[in-house]
Amino acid sequence: MKAKILVSACLMGFQVRYDGREKSQTGAALAQLQAEGRLVIHCPELAAGLPTPRLPAELSGGNGEAALLGHAAILESDGQNVTEAYLLAAWLALQTARENNCLFAILTDGSPTCGSQKIYDGHFAGKTIPGQGVATALLRQHGIEVFADHQIPQLLSRLEEVDKEQA
Ligand code: SF4
Repeated sequence: MKAKILVSACLMGFQVRYDGREKSQTGAALAQLQAEGRLVIHCPELAAGLPTPRLPAELSGGNGEAALLGHAAILESDGQNVTEAYLLAAWLALQTARENNCLFAILTDGSPTCGSQKIYDGHFAGKTIPGQGVATALLRQHGIEVFADHQIPQLLSRLEEVDKEQA
């Protein structure tokens, strides 16, 4: 069986981002994987019931791993604490990945949910720092390899390795 990949819905052209837009510049690169039936398209924040559009949110006081432990929060730009909804988003991403036997995920970087290489620094000033979002942290804790949207070559290389192992 071909290895499955959880993919951020906004990367596939769905207008589910906080600003009501998508981020589909990688769509062409993912089209082949979709044709192979490998992709499981999912937006954790939408699954958790958050509306589109919504206020931008950033991690405050730590990264996604810290938020899972209760040591960091996710705040909207007006200061509202929305940590609970984002933690639910993380768990729904994990549930979806497990139900579909995903070994990998390719998620939109920078998001407090889907970020895997960088997140925003919590000051809503457009500055990023190294870190991961809550869904990425939870997926990784459960053995799912998470790649950022700019890491498609690395994902393809891992897929080739796993396909060979499973052949
Ligand atoms: S939660 Fe993830 S999939 Fe949904 S809009 Fe944000 S980055 Fe995209």
